[in-house]
Amino acid sequence: MSSPDGLPPLRAVMLEHGLDPKRGLGQNFLLDLNLTARIARQAHPLAGATIVEIGPGPGGLTRALLAEGADRVIAIEKDARCLPALKAIADHYPGRLEIIEADALTIDLAALAHAGPLKIVANLPYNVGTQLLLNWIATARWPPMWSSLTLMFQREVAERIVAAPGSDHYGRLGVLTGWRTRARILFDISREAFTPPPKVTSSVVHLLPIADPEPASLDALERVTAAAFGQRRKMLRQSLKPLGGEALLEAAEIDPRRRAETLTVSEFVRLANHIRSA
Ligand code: SAM
Repeated sequence: MSSPDGLPPLRAVMLEHGLDPKRGLGQNFLLDLNLTARIARQAHPLAGATIVEIGPGPGGLTRALLAEGADRVIAIEKDARCLPALKAIADHYPGRLEIIEADALTIDLAALAHAGPLKIVANLPYNVGTQLLLNWIATARWPPMWSSLTLMFQREVAERIVAAPGSDHYGRLGVLTGWRTRARILFDISREAFTPPPKVTSSVVHLLPIADPEPASLDALERVTAAAFGQRRKMLRQSLKPLGGEALLEAAEIDPRRRAETLTVSEFVRLANHIRSA
C-alpha cells in the first residue's frame, strides 16, 4: 500500500533499506506524513525558494516539503544508508530533489545559495543541532545566506533559543539569537511521534534574520556572554573581571551590581563594543 504521495509508507522504506536508527547519528525519525507536512508548511511559501534540509534520514520531512510545493530541495545527509531511500524520492519528483552525502557541520552552504537565499528546514540531529544553529547565526556575512530557519530542537534548547532577559533559560544562546534574529517556538512535538522516541519533548522553532542587527564584534559578544553567564549568579563586576570589570561596566554605563540574566541584548552589545577600550 502506498501513501497519499504515491510512495511507500516510511516504515516500509525503513525496512526495505535496513534503516535501523543509530543513536550516534541522532536518528529519531518522524514517520507520520501529516506531522511532517505541518512542519514543512511553517517554511511557506515553499515554491520559488531553495530549501535546504539537513538530515533527511528516510525522507519523511523531505517528502512533505515536496508534496507541499517546494520546487527545489537540497537534502544533506551524513548516513550513506539513507541514500537509496532518498534516491527513490528524487525519482518520484524529477528535477526537484538534490541529495548531497555530507556532514552538515563542515559543508559550505553559501556555495548552494547561488539562486538566492536558502530556507533551511530540519529535524536536527540533537547531538549537533545547537552547533549548527550557532554556525548559521554566527556567520561573518550578514544578511546571511538563509532567509529563514525552521528547526526542531529538544524543548529545553528551544526555550534557551527564544529566552528573554529575566528568564532562567536566558543565556549565551538567547543573546546571540536575540541579537541577529527574531526567534519563536511554533509548537511542540511529543516523544511518541518519533521512532525511536527521544527522552524529551521536541519543539519547532522558527527564526528570521534581522536586517540590520546592532553592530558588534561576534568574537567580543561571545567573550562577554561566556564570562557573564559562566558565573550567572554573581554580580557583573565579579564575573566580568577578566574583561575589565568595573571599568568596562562604567564605560558601558551598566550598574556593576547587576547580574547577567538581567541584561538586554542591547546592553550585551554595548559591553562587547567596549571590551577593547576598557
Ligand atoms: N529528517 C528525518 C526525520 O524527520 O525523520 C530524520 C531526522 S533525524 C533526527 C536526524 C538525521 O540527521 C539523521 O538522518 C542523521 O543521519 C542525520 N545526521 C546526523 N548528523 C548529521 C550531520 N552531521 N550532517 C548531516 N546529517 C546528519
